Amino acid sequence: MTENFYIEREEKYGAHNYHPLPVVLEKGKGIFLWDVDGKRYYDFLSAYSAVNQGHCHPRIIETLNRQADKLTLTSRAFYNNVLGEYEEYVCKYFGYDKVLPMNTGAEADETALKLARRWGYVHKGIAENQALIIVCDGNFHGRTITVISMSTDPDSYKNYGPFTPGFIKIEYNNVDELRKTLEKYGKNTAAFLVEPIQGEAGVYVPDDGYLKKCYDLCRQHNVLFIADEVQTGIGRTGKMLACDHENVRPDILILGKAISGGVFPVSAVLADNEIMLTIKPGEHGSTFGGNPVGCKVAIEALQVIKDENLVENAEKMGKIFREQMCDFKSKMIKLIRGKGLLNAAVIKPVNGKTAWDVCLAMRDEGVLAKPTHEHIIRFAPPLIINESELTDATNRIKTAITKIENSDNV
Ligand SMILES: *Cc1c(COP(=O)(O)O)cnc(C)c1O
Repeated sequence: MTENFYIEREEKYGAHNYHPLPVVLEKGKGIFLWDVDGKRYYDFLSAYSAVNQGHCHPRIIETLNRQADKLTLTSRAFYNNVLGEYEEYVCKYFGYDKVLPMNTGAEADETALKLARRWGYVHKGIAENQALIIVCDGNFHGRTITVISMSTDPDSYKNYGPFTPGFIKIEYNNVDELRKTLEKYGKNTAAFLVEPIQGEAGVYVPDDGYLKKCYDLCRQHNVLFIADEVQTGIGRTGKMLACDHENVRPDILILGKAISGGVFPVSAVLADNEIMLTIKPGEHGSTFGGNPVGCKVAIEALQVIKDENLVENAEKMGKIFREQMCDFKSKMIKLIRGKGLLNAAVIKPVNGKTAWDVCLAMRDEGVLAKPTHEHIIRFAPPLIINESELTDATNRIKTAITKIENSDNV
């Protein structure tokens, strides 16, 4: 079977809501992926930072299989012997009173918005249906109608209206605008929702101190600080949470992706009792949320992060990666930015060759990454990568870029 067979079959029967890089994968192990012809690649996307622990981590897969053999789903109509174990584990792991388990990142974001509005009405005393939530330009929080109502990216929202009201959009990395917005609307504002680093937007790292200043402003105005750490959390940026870089403890913490090591859809919203207990039985839920398989997988995936020191490794390897890339002189690389192992290159097109062409050339050299927003390439290998592997992969990336630059002269 040729690659084209698989690509054309997806094209024919699948909705065209993605534009994948032309490579057909059939196996993953650790930091590597293999295509249907047996060619090996370094994975420098990690399924958008879901596979932080590496592909098919033996401990996580064993846990998955063991629980799948025993009990997969009870719904929340009944208790089971695993959910509480997970709830206790994840609450102690991140230091919160309670967790609300969901499945996808978008659902967890929706849950956080509901919690914030509830808290605004019940505890802050905002008048009915008047609650506001402040969000940032360039945000990515998922794909549901309410979540895209917060988006400023036309690809995400165009022709999907009418939209959910109640959001104020301000510039990212602009403390002053948050201050002014809170001075004007603080009374009716329930929460400020922010990504500590904007991943999908192209790994935009805010100025040092931004999160802390925003957090302090939120305190002053009795507004909840919500961090969407679906992409930045679980070690990715060289701390357990990206908010840890500034010692900020979000009032509501949103996690997804790597919380299951990319093995199962698991997301979580964490908060303390005052916020979490505003939702009463029957007022929110999910059939699969908190299922025994997801719970067991998440415990193991989180334990692997600690046992293998992946937070420290992400910090160390990230520094080396940025050094190696910054040492590389190239017309096409305008800028390298990032934290830990969440990094990006801003690409300047040369003679019509774009970030997409760079990703194709990288694929040919055995490294997989995907452009985001035309001119940005994100580099996010699994956090288990070591220095010699990283150096090999970086050299391949450089070879790919050099080949593209030289091909222009032919
Ligand atoms: C990926 C992502 C989401 C959405 O997660 P899904 O599981 O795709 O719904 C939400 N927020 C951030 C910051 C993300 O990176």
